[in-house]
Amino acid sequence: MSEENKGRTPAREKKQALFHQKKNGYDRLPAGERQAMDDYCAGYKTFLDEGKIERECVTYAVALAEAEGFRPLVPGEALSAGDKVYVNNRGKSLFLAVIGTEPLDRGAVIGAAHIDSPRLDLKQNPLYEDRELAYLKTHYYGGIKKYQWTTIPLALHGLVVLQSGETVSIRIGEAPGDPQFTVGDLLPHLAADQAKKTMGDIVSAEQLNVFIGSRPFSQDEESDRVKLTILDLLHEKYGMVEEDFLSAELMAVPAVKAVDIGLDRSAIGAYGQDDRVCSYACLKALLDLEGTPARTAVCVLADKEEIGSVGVTGMQSAAFDFFMEDLCRGQGVEPRRCYEKAFCLSADVTAAYDPNFGEAYEARNSAFFNYGVCISKYTGARGKSGASDASAELVGKVRRVFAGAGVVWQLAELGKTDQGGGGTVAAYLANRNIDTIDAGVPVLSMHAPFETTAKLDCYMTYKAMKALYENREEG
Ligand code: MN
Ligand code: MN
Repeated sequence: MSEENKGRTPAREKKQALFHQKKNGYDRLPAGERQAMDDYCAGYKTFLDEGKIERECVTYAVALAEAEGFRPLVPGEALSAGDKVYVNNRGKSLFLAVIGTEPLDRGAVIGAAHIDSPRLDLKQNPLYEDRELAYLKTHYYGGIKKYQWTTIPLALHGLVVLQSGETVSIRIGEAPGDPQFTVGDLLPHLAADQAKKTMGDIVSAEQLNVFIGSRPFSQDEESDRVKLTILDLLHEKYGMVEEDFLSAELMAVPAVKAVDIGLDRSAIGAYGQDDRVCSYACLKALLDLEGTPARTAVCVLADKEEIGSVGVTGMQSAAFDFFMEDLCRGQGVEPRRCYEKAFCLSADVTAAYDPNFGEAYEARNSAFFNYGVCISKYTGARGKSGASDASAELVGKVRRVFAGAGVVWQLAELGKTDQGGGGTVAAYLANRNIDTIDAGVPVLSMHAPFETTAKLDCYMTYKAMKALYENREEG
């Protein structure tokens, strides 16, 4: 047997032909793409730091889009190939489009991701003093493990509408030297009773109170002097009084910046990568389109996914339909003709297999770190409930596009059956008669204040979305 043929048994050859070979993405990364991947991830980290809440994401995304020639859509205007337009929906969700060379009755390619993330929203009567410590009451937003939000540095973001009608933006705890905030936890020395509780009660929702100060206003014999100090500072800086909290949207988010993780810098650690990692991929892919796409390319950055895609800025809102209608009418096309031929990638994160908690996963159908963008044919829980369950034909189409564009990808579902589950915006797009499939980045510690992703997977999600936008294949 020659040196070359050693080990090439018939079984091995047959296996190579028939088995699904799963390989680490670094063994599949096209040569010369390391630099592009690193450059992409640098831009992504800036996106994470600039936009920690949906309003900031919209503002930053609009700035990036305008720099690439996008302009606000004027309802009723005629649209032609190459036009780049957007609609800013109330500052909290964003629709962008590049008009394709094909008319809109040939469909559109939609990338839909969400820009809201789990966090601690302030209640409308948040400020109080207890034993000469001042706190802010919170009502958590999205699915969190409450105990994870204690003893970490927090920043305050959002806005206040003053009695006068003036709107004041707030962002405290992000600039160098800014004060930050925190939620306390009980010291282990006194945690005997706490230790007997189950996870949801170790720290209860009403214990998620943000420490905001402790210095009395003056030496008078008055009550609530610490609270007064805080209000005095807020009044001085923002012109607000306590009643203005009633018309405020303020949220406490982790005051950490996006950083490289690992000695090899292979990963990114940051708050809110679910789902800004896919939001940035969809946005950047749209902004980086080379030439005019065949089908109109649409990017949706949605709000409220973490609480059910509800409200005027959520994916269930008619705001999306009205945007698509305006695009279609700009070409004299019936919107339903566009929807029935459209394709949507519901770009959202999935759970990366975590070897420290392997028992929660079913390894044969799990997403792995560094194995590329992860397609999920379905999401949901308890027998696929809540999933849109994409067709085999749709998976087949996406496979072909990815293979043709050198996209490193994998297919998985979120954890072990009956262990839990999750949903995305996919069902709401599919309900509109749009062929929709889920795909996105596998995340470690999803929904924790600090989530971890693999740079390779982030980059491949961008490449995947770009390949779909640029696809010229029929259907
Ligand atoms: Mn998500
Ligand atoms: Mn989520």
